[in-house]
Amino acid sequence: MRVAFLGLGIMGSRMAANLDRSDFELTVWNRTTAKAQAFCGGHRAQRAPTPAQAAEGADVVVTMVVDGPQVEHVLLGTDGVASGAHEGVLCVDCSTIGAAATQRIAAALHRRGIRMVDAPVTGSAPRAQDGTLTIMVGGTTADVERARPVLQAMGETIIHVGPLGHGQTVKLLNNAVAATNAATLAQALIAGARAGLDLEALVAVMRSGSAASTMVELKAEPMRKHDYSTLFKLDHMLKDVRLCLEESESAGAAFPYAALTRETLVAAATMGHGEDDFAALLEPLERGAGIKL
Ligand code: NAP
Repeated sequence: MRVAFLGLGIMGSRMAANLDRSDFELTVWNRTTAKAQAFCGGHRAQRAPTPAQAAEGADVVVTMVVDGPQVEHVLLGTDGVASGAHEGVLCVDCSTIGAAATQRIAAALHRRGIRMVDAPVTGSAPRAQDGTLTIMVGGTTADVERARPVLQAMGETIIHVGPLGHGQTVKLLNNAVAATNAATLAQALIAGARAGLDLEALVAVMRSGSAASTMVELKAEPMRKHDYSTLFKLDHMLKDVRLCLEESESAGAAFPYAALTRETLVAAATMGHGEDDFAALLEPLERGAGIKL
């Protein structure tokens, strides 16, 4: 199967590497050419100068860029996939862009004979590297089954969650819970420090107790060390929580804890932490408490 992969950032470079290690004939494109050149230096993949050229002859096109406007540009803009792909090609968008953007882009693609599924991922850079991502897919059964071999090369758990767009909504809710969990963890560390606790003991208990979570595993130590080496950019988490709140509001559901998390993320971004890992949401909370861990 011939696969085009567009977007070689933190996640995309690792996901494309897993496709390259499998039996796919891979062509990659990235906005910053140097990254695509570096990728092709270490892999079998071919580099294409535009998304349209990457899509020529491809059976499946995977996109992993940041947001809706970027996906739209890469698929439907000048030199975009739609101007190079053959009719019947399947677009698998793994970016987190929200259900409304997915529906709009898919409708425009369908008018040009191109199919689409939304397949956002969770698991962050380490699981993208290991090929053990969880991937939530929205689309028709036929399209999802067509995408499955490609998804299985990048992920361990592939869940067909419903029709087109439902992958996005599931992903946004998942991330709002993760971000809110991280904000709660940061507040617990600050409260523990204020109370004079041994934070190592606190974290050890939380890891094996009822407070255990992926956020405790991934973010407690970086928060304690103020090490914000980026696994998932804070600006991207803010994008996701904002989209989640928009979707929840249009569905008529309140999500006040996610709204509080959004304010914390906005404060951290304003302090200059947008490109840092979202563990940096600790910073405005520390500032508010007048304490450094
Ligand atoms: P990233 O490292 O910032 O990479 C973003 C990619 O998008 C890069 O290839 C970048 O190209 C490209 N891009 C940026 N602006 C563009 C534009 N205007 N036109 C075309 N391409 C453009 O981000 P990431 O962490 O890989 O995240 C990618 C997506 O996955 C996001 O939707 C994010 O929310 C989601 N996600 C991330 C994680 C995580 O843990 N990191 C986990 C799950 C889901 P350049 O190289 O030219 O900048």
